[in-house]
Amino acid sequence: MSDLETFRAETAAWLEANAPQSIRGLPTSELTGTWGGKKETYANPDHKRWLDVAAEKGFTAPTWPVEYGGGGLSDAEAKVLGQEMARLKLPPPLIGFGLTMIGPTLLRFGTEEQKREHLPKITRGEIRWCQGYSEPGSGSDLASLQTRALRDGDHFVISGQKVWTSYADYADWIFALVRTNPKAKKQEGITFILIDMESPGVSVKPILLISGKSPFCETYFDEVRVPVANVIGQIDSGWTVAKALLGHERGMIADTFGGGGDKRGERSRFAVLAERYVGLDDQGRIADPLLRHEAVQNEMDAKAFGLTLQRTRDAARAGHQPGPETSMFKIYGTEINMRRHEIFVRMMGPQATGWDGPGYGEDETDLTKAWLRTRGNSIEGGTSEIQLNIIAKRALGLPD
Ligand SMILES: Cc1cc2nc3c(=O)[nH]c(=O)nc-3n(C[C@H](O)[C@H](O)[C@H](O)COP(=O)(O)OP(=O)(O)OC[C@H]3O[C@@H](n4cnc5c(N)ncnc54)[C@H](O)[C@@H]3O)c2cc1C
Repeated sequence: MSDLETFRAETAAWLEANAPQSIRGLPTSELTGTWGGKKETYANPDHKRWLDVAAEKGFTAPTWPVEYGGGGLSDAEAKVLGQEMARLKLPPPLIGFGLTMIGPTLLRFGTEEQKREHLPKITRGEIRWCQGYSEPGSGSDLASLQTRALRDGDHFVISGQKVWTSYADYADWIFALVRTNPKAKKQEGITFILIDMESPGVSVKPILLISGKSPFCETYFDEVRVPVANVIGQIDSGWTVAKALLGHERGMIADTFGGGGDKRGERSRFAVLAERYVGLDDQGRIADPLLRHEAVQNEMDAKAFGLTLQRTRDAARAGHQPGPETSMFKIYGTEINMRRHEIFVRMMGPQATGWDGPGYGEDETDLTKAWLRTRGNSIEGGTSEIQLNIIAKRALGLPD
């Protein structure tokens, strides 16, 4: 038996013995996944059990080094772990911006002390992170940000406002961009810093959307004292760190929304919806040929895109840091996802028009809300227009 086959057998046996039965096969999404952190509530205690055993084994961050709470797995082993989890229809034990954004950034730019302080708390799901980039006057033109940090001995005193801070009301820490040098060129006076949300002077105000709920918050800093030791990278050179993190964010968005469709080997959502709302022909195909064509095209695009992402991940692990291709992936992945949801609601017809109340099942209103959520895909993590600008300049070398 090869080493990898032995690893597969051991992993399958471990998952079988340790993954609680009650979580197997449950759908997982941004809304239902385990984000961890001090404010996490576990409707099903088995989610917490699954998080704890997986974290103990290093399976919440399989490829991170063991000394920081990861599994120390090779790429090939991590792939096998993913396949074995898919076989048992297991949800990820932990999701969130710690694993996908600040963790990889700390691995690359953090000091040894910063890595040892923050990474194990991420992998154990003890601390939940949010992202403090956007401001009321600085979205696409992020480098114009105004939140100011004044040096006072071994602290910075931070004042200003962030906006669209997803899930700030549930987060324990925030990674933020602040202006440390107002006289320098705008990209050169920015510092990347980690802030404990419990620090005096931090306040969070959720933003209500038309749906009555929203992940968004406004986050205010009123003379918040933050140790200089919390700076990642160099003071005034945070733009480099910020851009690297955006690369991870765009890759994560592309992967989450567009990457390869269903990863858990379940029946295609298109097939399930078509059977229920559109009908199948006598060969078991979606009866409406136009919808069939669009559904199949979308599945094939997602599959091909998933393979492309996998190739890039393999190259990244071999040392090739992704560049402007993350912008291409962000656009393509989010377009696949938006198109997929358009097809879902067209298949559902009038059943996709409900919000709540009688006449609509919860699965139906959930899908309608998921469709509306996709409208943000072309905005979050940098808009599609901004990605096109990056591709034009950095990939194609076109003039400004
Ligand atoms: C679901 C979601 C989650 C988010 N979560 C977070 C978060 O957790 N933390 C955080 O900091 N931010 C978050 N954001 C904010 C997001 O990063 C910004 O909305 C985004 O960067 C765009 O900024 P803006 O909204 O200020 O739009 P603007 O920058 O005002 O842009 C308005 C329009 O003008 C276009 N435009 C602007 N400049 C150019 C240009 N140079 N060329 C061509 N077109 C241009 C844009 O494409 C857009 O269509 C989130 C947004 C969404 C939708």
